[in-house]
Amino acid sequence: MSRPPRHLADLGLAERRQAVAELGEREFRADQLSRHYFGRYTDSAEDMTDLPAAVRSVLAAELLPPLLTSECELTCDKGATRKMLWRLFDGALVESVLMKYPDRVTMCVSSQAGCGIGCPFCATGQAGLTRNLSTAEIVAQVVAGERALRGAAPKTAHTRVSNENPASKPAHSRVSNIVFMGMGEPLANYRNVIAAVRRLTDPVPGGLGISQRSITVSTVGLVPAIARLASEGLSVTLAVSLHAPDDEARDELVPVNRRWKVAEVLSAAWDYAAATGRRVSIEYALIKDINDQAWRADLLGSLLAGHLAHVNLIPLNPTPGSKWTASLPGVQEEFVDRIAAHGVPVTVRDTRGREIDGACGQLAARAVPARTGRAARTAPAAAVADAPHGGTSATPTGIAAPSGATSLPLA
Ligand code: SAH
Ligand code: SF4
Repeated sequence: MSRPPRHLADLGLAERRQAVAELGEREFRADQLSRHYFGRYTDSAEDMTDLPAAVRSVLAAELLPPLLTSECELTCDKGATRKMLWRLFDGALVESVLMKYPDRVTMCVSSQAGCGIGCPFCATGQAGLTRNLSTAEIVAQVVAGERALRGAAPKTAHTRVSNENPASKPAHSRVSNIVFMGMGEPLANYRNVIAAVRRLTDPVPGGLGISQRSITVSTVGLVPAIARLASEGLSVTLAVSLHAPDDEARDELVPVNRRWKVAEVLSAAWDYAAATGRRVSIEYALIKDINDQAWRADLLGSLLAGHLAHVNLIPLNPTPGSKWTASLPGVQEEFVDRIAAHGVPVTVRDTRGREIDGACGQLAARAVPARTGRAARTAPAAAVADAPHGGTSATPTGIAAPSGATSLPLA
């Protein structure tokens, strides 16, 4: 399988200087290039007027190759939620979501094209894994978000706006929070995800300079990788997708539970909290009659009581053809109350972005000509979710990619 082209954001600052030297240029050019990319979000040689013309075109061509091609973009919530579907160099599809709140801007990014874990309620899981994203492919999603905030919307073949309010202005002009809750299991692409976290958080010119504390890595519960993350010395928030407090239900909802049981996953989570001092977010998709019983709420509350934890309940966002649906409102309320009765903080995510799921799925399915068989099988679904410290956040949503081998662009 060929790899994505090498990009500045794959490299640390020292490696960038070396790469520039190998191209026959002075090392400080690497810093100039980095300032353009991480500080001004540009990879266009014409913008780099502080570099000699001949130098900038060579360096941009070698170190800033285009990684993401916009395939479709949709907005809703009066322009506050923006979903982007990207085509990668090999035709694989991934999506990111930009969410503007009064006090922050959150970007939900993908870490893999597809996912190999296979949770039955998740659209990404149903499609299987295509491949890991490179570090730069992850970082580029955030850079694209920064550009979008500045008003430079990427040119896309298909842009549809729902309920747009052109007057709406972001309170923040920069991405302040990142959640690894798009396609993929971040800890199954450990090396590239950690490098991406460093690139997102290193100050300019090393990276984008976003606070580590504003980054949330969501995992299905890969226990050894959680332990490794705890030893990285990073202050990122860990979100654990638990979805059931008992092994019987979790074995079905999260197949990796057959390998690492609820008790082991929670123990790794508490070790993470102890090592970092960070409150762990426990994700729980509420599914009618599957995991929403009162006794499960009580069991969850008792397992979490006294620990540095917070529960994020996510009303299930059913995938097309799903036999499962979200819990009834009264059941959800009781679930919340029972957890809270154990003294455990609990919030329910809002349903931001849901109105355009279907639209985008249709759009992508009609717009995306399959370039490879693997890509054609990819069905991305970004879980649009916000960092837990922000209070409410959006629910998982999907931009469904085509299931067929061919389709035609929209007229
Ligand atoms: N693979 C990682 C991160 C991506 S999924 C993980 O599983 O944690 C982000 C969150 O969205 C997870 O909590 C996941 O379980 C949840 N999710 C996925 N599909 C969903 C759906 N259809 N409805 C509600 N939540 C969903
Ligand atoms: Fe993968 Fe997360 Fe979806 Fe499970 S919920 S299939 S781990 S993306």
